[in-house]
Amino acid sequence: MEHVTRIVIIGGGPGGYEAALVASRLGAEVVLVERDGVGGASVLTDCVPSKTLIATADVMSSFESAEELGIRIGGTSVGSSCVTGVNLDKVNRRVKNLASAQSVDIAESLSKAGVQIVKGRGRLTPDRQVEVDLADGTVGIYHADVILLAAGVRPREVPEAMPDGERILNWKQVYNLKELPPELIVVGSGVTGAEFAGAYQALGSAVTLVSSRDRVLPGEDADAAEVLESVFRRRGMRVLSRSRAASAVRDGDRVIVTLEDGRTVEGSHVLMAVGSLPNTEGLGLEEAGVELTKSGHIEVDRVSRTSAPGVYAAGDVTGVLLLASVAAMQGRIAMYHALGEAVWPINLKRVSSNIFTSPEVATVGQTNVNAHHGSPGFNEYKLALDSNPRAKMLGFKDGFVKLFSRKGSDTIVGGVIVAPRASELIHPITMAVDLHLTVDQVASVFTVYPSLSGSVAEAARRLHADVKDED
Ligand SMILES: Cc1cc2nc3c(=O)[nH]c(=O)nc-3n(C[C@H](O)[C@H](O)[C@H](O)COP(=O)(O)OP(=O)(O)OC[C@H]3O[C@@H](n4cnc5c(N)ncnc54)[C@H](O)[C@@H]3O)c2cc1C
Repeated sequence: MEHVTRIVIIGGGPGGYEAALVASRLGAEVVLVERDGVGGASVLTDCVPSKTLIATADVMSSFESAEELGIRIGGTSVGSSCVTGVNLDKVNRRVKNLASAQSVDIAESLSKAGVQIVKGRGRLTPDRQVEVDLADGTVGIYHADVILLAAGVRPREVPEAMPDGERILNWKQVYNLKELPPELIVVGSGVTGAEFAGAYQALGSAVTLVSSRDRVLPGEDADAAEVLESVFRRRGMRVLSRSRAASAVRDGDRVIVTLEDGRTVEGSHVLMAVGSLPNTEGLGLEEAGVELTKSGHIEVDRVSRTSAPGVYAAGDVTGVLLLASVAAMQGRIAMYHALGEAVWPINLKRVSSNIFTSPEVATVGQTNVNAHHGSPGFNEYKLALDSNPRAKMLGFKDGFVKLFSRKGSDTIVGGVIVAPRASELIHPITMAVDLHLTVDQVASVFTVYPSLSGSVAEAARRLHADVKDED
C-alpha cells in the first residue's frame, strides 16, 4: 500500500496555511494546529487589518490635492456630500469584519482541500511528534512524518511602556478604538510605525512620531525615507529624530512618553511599534533539537529545513524577511522539498515589498541598501516623478523611480519606487529582475501615455544613456 505522508503544521498564518494547501493538493494528510484563528496574525491582527485601515486613510490623503484639482471641500458640498472626517468606530468595524471574513474564507479553502484544522496550542515532543493543548482542555497527540513550524511573532513589549489596550497600545489593539485619538504618539519609525503614523495623520489625528534614529524608515532606501519624512512634516506631523523613548505612562486621559534624554511628549494615546519577538517559547524546540539564530528565530536553510530531521520552519518565526509573501513562499518550498517535488531554494534577491504610506515606497531586489551605495558592481538612476505628465495631471509631486543594473551585463537587479500605488507599479521591475531583463529591454517596452509606468521605461532609457556617457 502506498504510504501517505502525514504533515502537522503549527501556526495557521500565511507560512502555515499556504503550505497546508500545497501539501494537501500533493496528496499528503495534513493537520493544521492554530491557537487563535486561521489566517494567523497576518489576516486577523497585522497585515490585513492595517491595510484595510490604510485604505480609508488613502482616500482621506487623496483630498490633499483637491484644491489644486479644482474640487471644493470644507464648507461647500462635493456633489451632495461633504467630507468632515472619519467615524473610526465604523472604520474599525469594517476592518474587523473584513479580517474575520477572510479568515473564514481561508478555513473553507483548507477544509475543501481536506486539511484537518485543530484549534489549540501545539508543541514538539522530543521524539518529534506534535502535542496539542486542545480548546476543550484535553491534550491531543498528532503523529507526523513531517512537521512545519510557522508560529509567527508578537509585538516586542517594553516593561516601562506596557500596553493597557486603552491609551497605551500595540498594533493589534488599535482596532478596538471607538474614537480617533486626538493626539497620537507613535513610538518607532520603522515600517509599522511609519505606516500607522501616516494613516492616523490622514484620518485626522495630530501625530508625533518618536524615532530613535536619524530619520524615519531606517534600513530602507535613504532617498525614499527622505521623501516620506518631508511629506510627513509638510502635512504637520511632528517627527522627533534621535529620540529614544524610555517610558510611557498614563495620567488620566493623557499619556506621557519620557525620552531617554529626559524630555517628555504628551498626547491622548501612544502606539508602541518597537519591533517583534519570535513565538518560540513553549514549542519544545530545544528538546527536539531545533536550533535558533542569535536573534532567537528558528534557523532554516533556503529550503526551510531546520537542524532537526523532518522539521521545517517558515515565516516570521524564522526571521528571514518579515513579509507575508516570504512566509507563504517558505511554507510552499518546505512542502515541495518534504514531498520530493522539484524545488527552487528561496531567492531573497527577487522579493518585492511595499511600505503602505502615502506615497507608498515599493522595493525589489538589490538596491543601494543591500548592495551598498556606489557599489562598483552596480549602476543606478533616479528619475523624479514630478516630470511625469500623469503625475502632473493628478497633482502628485513627491516621489521617484530608481533603477539598479549590474555593470557589464546591464541586467536590471533592483528598483525603488516612491509613488501613489507604488505597490502596483513595482511589478514590471520585479518581472525584469526575475527574468534578468536588460536595461535596454525595459527601456524599449511600450508604456501607456500618459502613465506613471512611463517613468519606469524612461528611467531605464536614462540609465542606458548614463552608462554610455561613462564608457
Ligand atoms: C502591522 C503589520 C502590518 C503588516 N503588513 C504587511 C504587509 O502589508 N505585507 C506583508 O507582506 N507583510 C506584512 N506584515 C508582515 C506579515 O504580517 C507577516 O510577515 C506574516 O504574518 C507572517 O506570517 P506567518 O505565517 O509567519 O505568521 P503569522 O501570520 O503571525 O501566523 C502565526 C500563527 O501561529 C499561531 N501560533 C503561534 N504559536 C502557536 C502554537 N504553539 N500553537 C498553535 N498556533 C500557534 C499564531 O496564533 C498565529 O496565528 C505586517 C506585519 C505587521 C505587524
